[in-house]
Amino acid sequence: MSNVERDPTELRCGASDHGERLPVVDVLSARDVPLGGPRAMTVRRTLPQRARTLIGAWCFADHYGPDDVADTGGMDVAPHPHTGLQTVSWLFSGEIEHRDSLGSHAFVRPGELNLMTGGYGISHSEVSTTRTTILHGVQLWVALPEEHRHTARDFQHYVPSPVRVDGAEISVFLGSLAGDISPVRTFMPLLGAELVLEPHSTTTLAIDPDFEHGLLVDQGDVRMAGTLVHAAELGYLGTGNGTLTLTNETDTVARAVLLGGTPFDEQIVMWWNFIGRSHEDIVEAREAWQNASERFGKVDGYDGDRLPAPALPNATIAPRKNPTRH
Ligand code: MN
Repeated sequence: MSNVERDPTELRCGASDHGERLPVVDVLSARDVPLGGPRAMTVRRTLPQRARTLIGAWCFADHYGPDDVADTGGMDVAPHPHTGLQTVSWLFSGEIEHRDSLGSHAFVRPGELNLMTGGYGISHSEVSTTRTTILHGVQLWVALPEEHRHTARDFQHYVPSPVRVDGAEISVFLGSLAGDISPVRTFMPLLGAELVLEPHSTTTLAIDPDFEHGLLVDQGDVRMAGTLVHAAELGYLGTGNGTLTLTNETDTVARAVLLGGTPFDEQIVMWWNFIGRSHEDIVEAREAWQNASERFGKVDGYDGDRLPAPALPNATIAPRKNPTRH
């Protein structure tokens, strides 16, 4: 029998005497999740999932669009709370109006980072504007480490200047890559960058060997360290790699978001919009939101009611940790 791959990869077999190894990329596929609301736009969620709950401190990845808002109704998420995490909004197309209980009123636009720190408690609303025809982007969450998870609420906005490297254009919104450094403060070493890969190009990037990485492909097919990752999939590469080679073998531009960070070793409990360390943390946060506590403050200017928390599950919410790698 024969290898039926059209383009077989060269494999190093047997014992490796120099500690060399081929990077292993796990490909995670997305599941469709309706965001709620009368005409419910759908997002593609790659994190968390059974096979992987975190990449560094990145604990949640929703990818949506390109959606014609005339068909989907766009985004209309009423005021809702967060604890123990930061939200990262990054758009490819469209515009979202953000309001939060810190008093921030901001517009999320393509190529602009909006980083909201929930910490002990914040609430916010997100609505695509009437100027939006096509909505397309990602919504990501970062888990806060124990010593910072009760930090004060915060909101930061940053517009990176894209940098050019061989075969690609890169916008670094968190951390550093390709010689560019984002000034935005994070609570753990993190990387977040948009990569636009030219047709028929190969780009090799120096990466931090202490980081694990995830490549969320937005459009096109990208070969990540030898493994093909299709649009809407998330390629995962573990620690111990000093370079990352990305290839776009197609005739059209490919686009992806590269996430990275040092492995997050704490067990966390995630439920609805809350991250805690125990079931009790979640019960407490839910109760505070239902009682309109000062913990989450008030969102001014949203036209409509706030989102009620869903009912708690009957069972105790189990903590999440990444499965041990083989
Ligand atoms: Mn939110």
